[in-house]
Formats: sequence, C-alpha cells, structure tokens
Amino acid sequence: MGKCMIIGCGGVASVAIHKCCQNSDVFEGIMIASRTKSKCDALKEKLQPTTKTVIETAQVNADNVDELIALINSYKPDVVLNLALPYQDLTIMDACLATKTHYVDTANYEPLDTAKFEYKWQWAYREKFEQAGITALLGSGFDPGVTGVFSAYAMKHEFDEINYIDILDCNGGDHGYPFATNFNPEINIREVSAKGSYIEDGKWVETEPMEIKRVYNFKGVGEKDMYLLHHEELESLALNIKGIKRIRFFMTFGQSYLTHLKCLENVGMTSIEPIMYEGKEIVPLQFLKAVLPDPASLGPRTVGKTNIGCIFRGKKDGKDKNYYLYNICDHQECYREVGSQAISYTTGVPAMIGAMMIMTGTWKKAGVYNIEEFDPDPFMDALNKWGLPWEEDFDPVLVD
Ligand code: NDP
Repeated sequence: MGKCMIIGCGGVASVAIHKCCQNSDVFEGIMIASRTKSKCDALKEKLQPTTKTVIETAQVNADNVDELIALINSYKPDVVLNLALPYQDLTIMDACLATKTHYVDTANYEPLDTAKFEYKWQWAYREKFEQAGITALLGSGFDPGVTGVFSAYAMKHEFDEINYIDILDCNGGDHGYPFATNFNPEINIREVSAKGSYIEDGKWVETEPMEIKRVYNFKGVGEKDMYLLHHEELESLALNIKGIKRIRFFMTFGQSYLTHLKCLENVGMTSIEPIMYEGKEIVPLQFLKAVLPDPASLGPRTVGKTNIGCIFRGKKDGKDKNYYLYNICDHQECYREVGSQAISYTTGVPAMIGAMMIMTGTWKKAGVYNIEEFDPDPFMDALNKWGLPWEEDFDPVLVD
C-alpha cells in the first residue's frame, strides 16, 4: 500500500514500528529516522527477519527543517509519523508542507522554554495544509487520540448532544521503583507539575497542581486516587463535540510518585530554567531525566493494567443518558508482544492506526485536523483488531 517515515525511536515509536511491521500489507516500507541511528538499526535488526515490511533507517535532527526535507525527498514516504518530542512538531510540519507529505503526531507543539501546550501553533497551519492538498492528523495517541475517537463515536452513535465528558486515565501498573515516569520524564513532569485546568461553559477554569482529587474504582484495576490535570484534548474536544458544558481530565498517581515529585519540585529539580553548573549551562529537569530510569527499561518490570476511557453524559431522544467507553491494557501482555509496557503500547498502537487511516485514504481531507473530526468507525474497528479492544458501560459510576 505505501511507505511511512517514522521520526523518533523511543518508547512510543518502538511500539508503532512493531505494529507497522505486523501490518505489512499497509506498511510496505518504513523508514525509522531519529537522532540516535544506532537505536533505529537495533530495531531494524530485531524486526526485519519477522516482517515483509522493508525497513530502512536514517539519522536526522528533526529540529532542522532542511535536513528533514532532504530525507523526505530521498525516501518519498506517503506519510510522516512524528514520534519524536512535541518540540519538533512545527519543524516536521514545515518539512511536510515543503514536500507535500501527510503528517501524523501524538502530542501538540510545546515550546522548549514554556511548559504550555495548546493547539494554536499547529492550527495556524490549517490554510497552508489545505492549499498543499495534504492532511495533518493531530493527536493520534491514546490521550489525546483514542479519547477523541471515543468522543466522536459516542456523538455519532449514542447521543444527540454530549454535555459532560470526564476523561479518566488510570495506570494501575507497578514497576517496583520508588519513582519513575512511564514516558519521556521531561514531558511527563512538565505535564504533571503544571497547573490543572478544565473547561466549563466555554471558559478555562484553572486549579493549583493536583488540587482536585477524586477516588474511582476502575474495572480491571481497582480503587485509585486520581487528580485533575490540564490536558491538550480538552481544548479541541470542547470545540468539536456538540453541546459540551464541561470537560475534565483525571489521571491516577500513587502516593510515592507524588511525594517524590513534591520533593524534587521543592529542591528545584523540576525547573526548566537553565542554571550554571561548573561553568556549563544545564536545565535541572533535563539533568533529572538523565538520572531517572529510562521509560523503555520499565517494560520487563511493570505488572498490572491500565484503564483509560471517557465517561459521557448527555441527551438521546430527549432523555438523559450516561455512557462510558474504555480500554483495559495489561503491561505484561504488551511486554510479551512488543517488548514495551502498556503506556508506550496504548500510544504506539493508535499512532500506527492513525498513519494507516491516512495511508489507505480511509481518512482523506486536506488541512489540519484533530482526530475527533474524522469518522470514528474505521478507527474503532482497527483498535479491536490491533490490540486495544474497547468496552462499554451504559450505567457507569459518575465522577462528582
Ligand atoms: P522518548 O523520549 O522515549 O522518545 C523520543 C524519541 O525522539 C527518541 O528516540 C529521541 O531520540 C527522538 N528525538 C528527540 N529529539 C529529536 C530530534 N531533535 N531529532 C530526531 N529525533 C529526536 O519519548 P516517548 O516515546 O515516550 O514519547 C514520544 C512522543 O509521544 C512524545 O511527543 C510524547 O509526548 C508522546 N506521547 C503521547 C501520548 C498520548 O497518549 N497521546 C502518551 C505518551 C507519549 P534519542 O533516542 O536520541 O533520545
């Protein structure tokens, strides 16, 4: 069917690459292009004997638009799947524009010097992508990603209007370390140490970090503390889902994680302000990343399950209706299948599916779109087929 260039070769990319290789009818060729080529080569060596997908590798600095353009022109992929870091979104989008190549990512752009994620920078490319006749699919991970697909599906099949969405992200996994992050530590800590926020009646309401706590009993996991966080899909869903009055995002954290995080914050280790250390400028958070366990190394140690989904409240045929859509994913099963824990898995599988939707022409419209702006049905089918089956509950316990 076609060729895909995958940029980045970390935890999420590794899962997406495994999945592309399982899906070689669609992914006839992939190029793994990242900063450290040896990681790309190691994955190629592992996977090439197992798949018909022809794997190529390359070194690229994705901060450099000219380098990206040259690489895209030499490989001529149908789609570029950006699984590097949010800082690279705009340079990769620029290179896609210059080469008229479709673009898919899993996280919205974030400037290095301000821990603030919003869509305005990427939405500003709408006209340019439309004029170039290419698609940018934003946020094709789990959250954002599957949460948007779930919302579009609920809107299409279950509701006339959705008034409330609570997105619940529960990781019941235990890796045995007192403190480690499940995906890129720098991005993860920037996210959880930021102020919380949610949207109510069209306005953002801001909270202190971890100010709002609830306890929820998750199927497959059990009772967990969860905290309200700011999360990027709130911004797009509030615009794209009809009738929204309030939308919130909660994530579970254990007490040990929170105590460590507070201590690291208190001593200044989570700061993104550069400091001088022995004559060299360093960013404390980047140094912290260097001493924390690599998320990719958590796979063999992590046991337990994740449960991520959305609780919808709205109206159908004039009556109130509640509906919960979620996926349960087992860390050890993921590890056995692709050598990664469930956080990378639940992001890497939808990333592959998003690229597949564009590559097969199943989703086809020129411009820059969030995932909930496409027909959810083929994506929902693909989730069941490619390892993230979803479950429904028509009488869920609600979050107050
Ligand atoms: P990792 O840090 O494990 O991987 C990032 C990869 O990008 C690494 O291979 C890194 O190279 C490469 N990279 C970084 N900078 C550059 C650059 N300038 N040029 C080329 N390559 C570069 O991160 P994750 O895999 O955990 O996360 C990947 C993305 O997925 C992030 O954007 C994250 O926010 C997003 N994500 C989305 C989720 C969702 O549900 N939507 C959930 C989890 C993550 P090197 O190997 O040299 O370090």
